Amino acid sequence: MENIRNVGIFAHVDAGKTTVTEYMLYLSGETHAVGGVDSGTAATDFLGIERRRGISVRAAGVSFLWGDCRINLTDTPGHVDFISEVERSMQIIDGAVLVLSAVEGIEAQTEVIWNALKKAGIPTVFFVNKTDRAGADAEAVEAAITAEFGARLFHPCDPRDDLILASGDEALLDRLLSGDPPTREETDRALAGAVSSGLAFPALRGSALKGEGIDALLDAIKFYLPAPKLSEGLSAVVAGIGHDRVMGKTALVRMYGGSLSNRDGVTIPSTGELQKISQVRRRGAKRYSDIGSVSGGDIAQLCGLPGLKIGDIIGEKPPIPPVSLSEPLLRVKVVPERDGEYTPLVQALSELSDEDPKLNMQWESETRELFISILGRIQLESISALLDERFALHPSFGPPSVIYKETPSKTGEGFDSYTMPKPCWAVLRFLIEPLPRGSGLEYSSVVENNKIFYRYQHQVEQALPGALRQGNYGWEVTDLRVTLIDGGHHTIHTHPLDFVTCTPMAILDGLRNTGTTLLEPMQRVRITVREDLGGRVIRDILDMRGEFDSPVIKKGSFTLEGLLPVSTSMDYPAEIGIMSGGRGLMSASFAGYRPCPVELGATTPYRGICPLDRAKYILKIRGAIQ
Ligand code: GDP
Repeated sequence: MENIRNVGIFAHVDAGKTTVTEYMLYLSGETHAVGGVDSGTAATDFLGIERRRGISVRAAGVSFLWGDCRINLTDTPGHVDFISEVERSMQIIDGAVLVLSAVEGIEAQTEVIWNALKKAGIPTVFFVNKTDRAGADAEAVEAAITAEFGARLFHPCDPRDDLILASGDEALLDRLLSGDPPTREETDRALAGAVSSGLAFPALRGSALKGEGIDALLDAIKFYLPAPKLSEGLSAVVAGIGHDRVMGKTALVRMYGGSLSNRDGVTIPSTGELQKISQVRRRGAKRYSDIGSVSGGDIAQLCGLPGLKIGDIIGEKPPIPPVSLSEPLLRVKVVPERDGEYTPLVQALSELSDEDPKLNMQWESETRELFISILGRIQLESISALLDERFALHPSFGPPSVIYKETPSKTGEGFDSYTMPKPCWAVLRFLIEPLPRGSGLEYSSVVENNKIFYRYQHQVEQALPGALRQGNYGWEVTDLRVTLIDGGHHTIHTHPLDFVTCTPMAILDGLRNTGTTLLEPMQRVRITVREDLGGRVIRDILDMRGEFDSPVIKKGSFTLEGLLPVSTSMDYPAEIGIMSGGRGLMSASFAGYRPCPVELGATTPYRGICPLDRAKYILKIRGAIQ
């Protein structure tokens, strides 16, 4: 079996990740010339929008050989709008390369990615790029990584004694001291152990533009990052859904155990349908090749399984950690170019939702409006380009509005007795309590089977997220604990779906009693401008209801970190661009939700018929009115 390394490459936008990847492909012999992001010829920039804007928006997998080692490299987009792609790629890799610029050093997105890598326990190689640029200071960047990330670095080209020390392997240290120094292979093995367990991190420097340091980076991947661990039986996860003009829908899978081959049947988890693999293929720099089969540890694309969705498991569940970095913060209305074009538009957007589940397409039948959820304006541009290129659709988009949430303001009870008009019987009493930010929904029940059959209680639990989709202000209710504390069924009168009907009425009654607090999304930002613009930036941040830490002024530039509401700062990057003549920068990452005064936020009326309008709601549920 080949020696495999499944590696993700990550960076803040513009640090040089795509250029590093291009040079790796060139050195491995996969390409015969170095494609450039600046000329729009990079092999891992697939989509039209990537070529036009010079940024990567979709995670792209590419596979090549380095000596006897197969490297499956996942190139992820560096822009914050595409963080869901980064999230997904972390579930299929065993190691990571984190690229930083020797000039800009640690940036907002670098930090977000590092925290996620650390949480998921993914061994990481650091590459400090752009050492050729004026103002580059690789040493300072490495010192910052050690200080801010607490990562102990070593250089693979250090003298052997230093490497033995860095490995922390006591047996090898003893041998060094007793005059029987271990060999380079033994030292590398010990270092690989330290890297795998997150105790040491290889650090490399170079210039991807000039091709310097990339061969050493490839060696570091091979020698220090771990090989995949294999499971016994068939086990694979769908990490991405793609679209191919000829083959149709494609599924990127990471195999943990067993193997899958051309013409194998696969049971689709969501439908139970059996579909047949038409081709197992791998992406090189320039084209796909049919590889016939893929087995444990490897990554490949499966064609012919259109039923698969992102996150589907084939066979046994693999040991993957859930990673969550982000959620869409903006909601946008999509309006078709021509009346009556809703059907193809809904179809196209649901296809795109299969590729990016967080798009969360919503069709609101009462108002006949179509919405999608997004992370930012650049993502919207990419969706618009995909709709044009793949579906020849040219809808317009409304102005993005922030997605607010709400949370109960205090503890309280919700009650409903749905016993009329007969036949029906469902009585529910809930206790609703607020929880700290980021807790989401917790549910439990203290009611026994003889009062409400467990099968009905199961229906209540299933109906709960739907009931919480719109609170007092029209937003999703979150960070709360709901406990079913009392209620009753009737052995004769209870109809199968009565508890599903009753749940929203009792929950909304509860929210009316507790009252709710509006929550708004916040972003953590880092702003860098010329020193003389510092005062203006501080004033702007205060106007935007933001907070900031003490600014750092260095070599004529002013850098500030702070916390800003998304609603007030959505357009600020563009404003910075204008005030600084394109030289200023603002990078941002999601920083959770926080309470917001209702008069400064937005509320929306209940969409559809509100369960508190009981008579009308019950009639509607029973199908009496449409
Ligand atoms: P990504 O956004 O991280 O994928 O970064 P890219 O690879 O697209 O590079 C961003 C810009 O930096 C492009 O204009 C590259 O040509 C440039 N760049 C990348 N690596 C280097 C380098 O080592 N030195 C210099 N001077 N420029 C580089």
